[in-house]
Amino acid sequence: MRSMATMTRGTNLPQMAGFNQFAVLDAVRRSDGSRTRADLARITGLSAQTVTNATRRLIEEGLVAERELQRRSGSGRPGTALAVVPDSRYAVGVHLDPAAVVVALIDLAGDLVTQRAVSTPESERPEAVLDVVADEIAAIVEDAGVRRDRLVGVGVVTPGPIDRERGLVLDPPHLKMWHDVPLRDEVARRTGLPTLLDKDVLAVAAATLWFPDGGHSGDAAVVYAGTGVAVGVVSGGEVVRGVSGNAGEAGHLSIGRASGPCSCGRDGCLGGVLSAESLLANATARGIGLAAASAVTPDPILRADAAVDELRVRAERGEAAVHDFLADAGDALGFAVTGVCELLDLDTIVTSGPVWERLGPWLERGLQGAVDRFRLPGRHPVRVVPSVGGVHAAAIGAACLALDEAFTPRAAGLLLGS
Ligand SMILES: [Zn+2]
Repeated sequence: MRSMATMTRGTNLPQMAGFNQFAVLDAVRRSDGSRTRADLARITGLSAQTVTNATRRLIEEGLVAERELQRRSGSGRPGTALAVVPDSRYAVGVHLDPAAVVVALIDLAGDLVTQRAVSTPESERPEAVLDVVADEIAAIVEDAGVRRDRLVGVGVVTPGPIDRERGLVLDPPHLKMWHDVPLRDEVARRTGLPTLLDKDVLAVAAATLWFPDGGHSGDAAVVYAGTGVAVGVVSGGEVVRGVSGNAGEAGHLSIGRASGPCSCGRDGCLGGVLSAESLLANATARGIGLAAASAVTPDPILRADAAVDELRVRAERGEAAVHDFLADAGDALGFAVTGVCELLDLDTIVTSGPVWERLGPWLERGLQGAVDRFRLPGRHPVRVVPSVGGVHAAAIGAACLALDEAFTPRAAGLLLGS
């Protein structure tokens, strides 16, 4: 695993030993296991002696191990590099979506150990959902046989808006019974684990930084198409969070043409074409009769989710009207997101989310067409790539955030285990 995120530099002040240890660990985590102590000193700005001291403590704590580098041809003895010990620590990520609860367990190297998914309880009462989340966390840890003292924490991500500082889910448009729910503290209380709360699209954006092989240069628009639609931005190797941590709301980006009426009162919003519910409504309006449209379930979220499944089946069968319909939705996304790419000089569009996972091949045709059409002469190309982790991308991202939270150097110098 190798990260594009900005490296954190250390300080050589003696009272900053804990901070420096984290800075070195951060540099090791973000490398591919081939960094020597000299490399780490250069990256962190720490002295050779400080790096030696920090790596000794990290090795004693079992977080980092030495490995011999291959001898370079003609040179002297091979160097010793440092790499994280993957099974020394783990983090849990939870993606709470109105349609599903997805849980992922990752190790210190950021690699996925295992994952699970269940439907979100139909009642969507916060209490019922919290019970499911706590049960799923307990189950994934038990199934993986991970020792509890090796768990650094839980990252929980949901659609916005949230209050990240206070750990509250405010008023998510697709969870009608949720208002100012203290999700972070409730999960922490039920699991006894340190917990953080963040937005789902920003977790996917964070994950793309950890897995650049599937990703980008560090400047990307991250599309998340699920119950709603969001576009997170990664700029200069950092996730853009905004003033309240709610960056990424894209439901009302203009698509430059009619979308059907949007909840905001306008017509022509991205959310009016690419959310699960709008796909169902618009398909029906275009004469694509879906069984989900007349399903007996009273829950509009589940009905829309069933419609997405149905569209996939019919697209796979090669139904031309469905192909055209989905390409148009992808084209509308392309109109909106190429504007974001142009504004921020981004070179990659990462696609993700449960709707994209199912309808991506057909949506992408329209998206790619729009990207090709809107590209300005003389400008760099914009690539379209899928996110890593597929349908689990947000849960994996949530777990990455939990690892980051536990191992990000802070001036407060919180030493692990101290
Ligand atoms: Zn709108």
